[in-house]
Amino acid sequence: MTPGSFETAAQSTIKEIAEYYSNISTRPVLPSISPGYLQKLLPTHPPSEPETWSDIQRDIESKIMPGITHWQSPNFMAFYPASSTFPGILGEMWSAALTAPAFNWLCSPAVTELETIVLDWLAEMLALPPTFLSKGDGGGVIQGSASEATVTVMVAARERYIRRMVEREGITDAEEIEDRMCELRSKLVALGSEHSHSSTHKAANIAGVRYRSAKTYKQDDFALTGAGLRKTLEACKDKGLHPFYVTVTLGTTNTCATDRFEEIAQVAKDYPDLWIHVDAAYAGAALVCEEYQHISQHFAAFDSFDVNMHKWLLTNFDASCLFVQKRRDLTDALSITPSYLRNTFSDSGLVTDYRDWQIPLGRRFRALKIWFVIRTYGVSGLKAHIRHHIKLGEMFAELVKRRDDLFSILVPPAFALTVLTVKPNRKRKIEPPERVNGAEPPPYQDSHVPVLPDAAGDEKLEEANAVTKEVYELIDSRKEIFLTSSIIAGVYAIRVVSANPLAEEKHLRRAFDILVDTAEEVLRWREK
Ligand code: PLP
Repeated sequence: MTPGSFETAAQSTIKEIAEYYSNISTRPVLPSISPGYLQKLLPTHPPSEPETWSDIQRDIESKIMPGITHWQSPNFMAFYPASSTFPGILGEMWSAALTAPAFNWLCSPAVTELETIVLDWLAEMLALPPTFLSKGDGGGVIQGSASEATVTVMVAARERYIRRMVEREGITDAEEIEDRMCELRSKLVALGSEHSHSSTHKAANIAGVRYRSAKTYKQDDFALTGAGLRKTLEACKDKGLHPFYVTVTLGTTNTCATDRFEEIAQVAKDYPDLWIHVDAAYAGAALVCEEYQHISQHFAAFDSFDVNMHKWLLTNFDASCLFVQKRRDLTDALSITPSYLRNTFSDSGLVTDYRDWQIPLGRRFRALKIWFVIRTYGVSGLKAHIRHHIKLGEMFAELVKRRDDLFSILVPPAFALTVLTVKPNRKRKIEPPERVNGAEPPPYQDSHVPVLPDAAGDEKLEEANAVTKEVYELIDSRKEIFLTSSIIAGVYAIRVVSANPLAEEKHLRRAFDILVDTAEEVLRWREK
């Protein structure tokens, strides 16, 4: 392709992308194909001769679209959003145009310097304690995913813990130090809670350490408490293990629970060698709004914090923003500098080489899209975006609560997520009292919203699970909306997330109507 033909091809591609976004809600959110569909549509062998762009472009609609789950559709209310916006897409385009594995400052100074600046902006927007900013000992770095961020800080935590232990023991002989480090490593245990994302367990596997999860309870809305953490720490120590790391979560995956940061910060005082990482992959975005910023103040007691701007902050995948209070913790663990990576700027200590803050060497220019997004929306626009979704979530949860003859809400709705179950035994509606001898009947509750004794205690869990599953599967098979189901403390539940960039009130109302109609259909069928 020449620059001229690139321009023509790009213009028609951008036109198609704009049309795709304009009409996205008319497409079924889920594909209707079977596994292996694409193999049947594409040639078995690569083309031996060049093809024209118009031929290639045509195949997007005919071959690729049938196999796409439309995450940007407002009817996508599953998992968590993966927001895409036009400034985010433009950032990706420029990043592709300037492609470089910019591992050292020298590789493209703007890549590093813009990253430092936009992450300081973000830290300020989220009201993180100033110690997380690059001006002091801390700083931020863009990672590919929250999982990658967790592995990275867990390795830093492991190395910091072992170094401190060995130093305290006063061992000086190099071989003895190595032996002792290996011995200690076999006793290390990373912690999470039962509701931490599975990435913490995976990180422990990758880092070669043990993993334990602290129990959580329904009465605490499945949040990790200080007492729960302390109990798990003590149990590990009783067994001769060394707990060195814990993930605490702002917005757990299943229910968007917020762990009890204030209590956990108290526990941290008794465990100064414990690295505490805040996984705020999704809900951390809400910290841009003042009404949530009281949460950030507790992070001063923790070592690291990560939020995915690619989930709820309008930035295209991938943009996972990791902040640490002591950047030396990362570089001490991850910096290895062979001669071919050395240069006078790095040696001067005046520049940042982000390769020492992450697992890979090379890195993309991801700061550009963050810069474009923050400038296009402004902080006020980002706050409005989050508040819009929180309001939609509250409206949706209110609709569900009003149908307490059909649904139960499992935990208090949070961060635009509602988690519900279907009641297996539909409560009988109260019929209006009959007139006696022609007298006016006393007023009665509107039968549309019946107020009835709560039968939840009588419902058998298995039956409730079976009905909720049936409702979920029927909705899923019809593909008009896409929700997620999960099993939470033995309860089969349906999760509805109203945080898609294109979501409007009408989409949430339609999702609610679908839930009601499907639940009634299933219950009618079961009553037969
Ligand atoms: N942490 C939490 C709380 C999540 O909800 C998720 C994904 O939904 C992750 C981590 C993993 O995110 P990533 O795909 O960026 O690794």
